[in-house]
Amino acid sequence: MNFPIKQVHLDFHTSPDIKGIGSKFNKEQFQAALKEAKLESITVFAKCHHGLSYYPTEIGKMHPGLSFDLTGAEIEACHEIGVRAPVYITAGWSEWDSSMHPEWVSRNKKGEMNCTTSRKDSFIQGENDYMDHCSWVNLCLNDGSYCEYIYKITEEVCKRYKDLDGLFYDICFIDGACYCDECVKGMKEMGLDPQNEADARFYYIEKHKSFMFKCGEILHKYHPEATIFFNSGGADMDKPQYFPYESHFEMEDLPTVWGGYDKMPIRAKFFKETKKPYIGMTGKFHTNWGEFGGFKDKDALKFEITYMAMCGAGCSVGDHVHPDCEMEWETYKKIGYAYSYLDKIAPYCYSGESTANLGIVLGDNGEANEGLSCILLENQIDYDVIFDNNFDKYNTVVMPTGVKLSDEGADKLKAYINNGGKLLFMGNSLVRDNEFIIDIGADYIGKSEYDWDYITTDLKPEAELPDAPMLCYFPAENIKLTDGEVLASILLPYFNRTKLHYCGHQNTPHNKEGEIRPSIVKKGNVIYMAHSMSGLYKKYGSIYYKRYVMAALGLLYTERAFCVEGLLSQGRAMMNKQKENNRYCLNLLYGIPVKRGMCEIIEDMPDIYNVKITLNIEEEVKNVYLGVSKEKLEFSKKEGKTEFVLPKLHCHESIVIEY
Ligand SMILES: [Zn+2]
Repeated sequence: MNFPIKQVHLDFHTSPDIKGIGSKFNKEQFQAALKEAKLESITVFAKCHHGLSYYPTEIGKMHPGLSFDLTGAEIEACHEIGVRAPVYITAGWSEWDSSMHPEWVSRNKKGEMNCTTSRKDSFIQGENDYMDHCSWVNLCLNDGSYCEYIYKITEEVCKRYKDLDGLFYDICFIDGACYCDECVKGMKEMGLDPQNEADARFYYIEKHKSFMFKCGEILHKYHPEATIFFNSGGADMDKPQYFPYESHFEMEDLPTVWGGYDKMPIRAKFFKETKKPYIGMTGKFHTNWGEFGGFKDKDALKFEITYMAMCGAGCSVGDHVHPDCEMEWETYKKIGYAYSYLDKIAPYCYSGESTANLGIVLGDNGEANEGLSCILLENQIDYDVIFDNNFDKYNTVVMPTGVKLSDEGADKLKAYINNGGKLLFMGNSLVRDNEFIIDIGADYIGKSEYDWDYITTDLKPEAELPDAPMLCYFPAENIKLTDGEVLASILLPYFNRTKLHYCGHQNTPHNKEGEIRPSIVKKGNVIYMAHSMSGLYKKYGSIYYKRYVMAALGLLYTERAFCVEGLLSQGRAMMNKQKENNRYCLNLLYGIPVKRGMCEIIEDMPDIYNVKITLNIEEEVKNVYLGVSKEKLEFSKKEGKTEFVLPKLHCHESIVIEY
């Protein structure tokens, strides 16, 4: 199966208080919407968070306002026009089941129900008070009685639909541990101590793996080729223990309200390395899931879809259909607009190998990881995420704070550096037992005792860093120089800000007579930055943090696969090599998300002129043209490098470089 790249996730969490469910479902109208959107796959509902099923069930509870097999009708409508229809089954949130079976509800240590924060509030409010968004009780998925019930539903769905394409289980990893009666009993039977958090966590993980395994076993008994995905706010990079049970990854992310447009690329680059299919999942919503009547602009959707494609991710757009199941034409027109463009650029995005010659290793600090990704992307430096300590592929390796390597990883890193590999790393990475695991020209001392500190540096004046001590909103690690070269220094405040000693409104100024510590140290082809500078950048957004990292990186990383000039910080650039077609495909993207109210939206899509591209590739270039319009671009060769200019960029261009 070629994994479908044009998908919709059709939410259908529908109140039992609404009648006439599916009363306007019309096969032709449903199919017309799918065709308008150019869909290859749409995830349809068997069971929703209200706990209600949309087909006649003998196990669960069919929606009281529904009188026919809606799930089946949707699957049939899809298959008739060659569209896949994987089926959604809620797992962790099911209102009907939690009310009928309180013993199935996940519990905290005190025996209280685990639930979303907004649901907690509803316990103390009156029945007629406003029900906050996303108010659900969590059910226990530790392979107990509730899971037995899900297995039966799974089997029922598998038997009922002879050509089932896949299953999508939702809300699967919502708590870190469960202390319901069954889990406490189960832990004791396994010789675990329920009072010990590590034991409870271990039990939770093992039992969730059993749950996933059993669901997959039932599905594949009836439908060996079907896909299976267990969701919980999107595929999670931090939970590799669950990866073996997923057939693919759906990176759920609503950029307007979930933290912006730059969370997706780093996840895409991570999941690419799992070698399983991965898709980005956004929404047609202005804000969040379950929003009726909220829309994103069609060009914003096109921007998102294009960004996913550039990162090699298939695409899925979330929708929530009206209870009567008439498909909203406005939504499918917008999706069709974005997916028509995807059709045009797909050949230049989805095949070939990344040309990135800079690799990053992810640490245990998500903010620092994402900040590093942003710094690189905003400078049009493409990167790969390094799995399995495979450093040798890369000219330069960069690590944010929080990277720990195994013994094998440390050996590989040392060999890489000894062979001329370049390394830039930050913060508390590569520290083990209070020592750096490699020689960086300085000794690790420990955490700083200060709340803030300041950087002063002569690094590249053209980097336009402040010609004054620069505030860091959290401090550097404390190191002591041995034989490294100091490229920047740390000035310390007079004192930490406390109730007893404080100075003015905010941070204590630096003490010009005080101790000076190293901030950046270079030894050979290794540079260490004592601050978690990418974490600072992600959290505080100062352009000087970004420039500071780039100034240091520029000392090491001098052989980019390609260079883009004039694309500004919101420009993104990625290039694939498609050997089978003797070509490179360079994708350039430009859009400006801005904060409006509570959302990040894209309204303006200004044209960018005269973007200069320099390619550092070994092949003799024969032809350069724009992928969509086929318009040719003049190119020249200078000092072994191919150069050309893209006269105008509007949102996106695929540039094809044939050799
Ligand atoms: Zn439990």
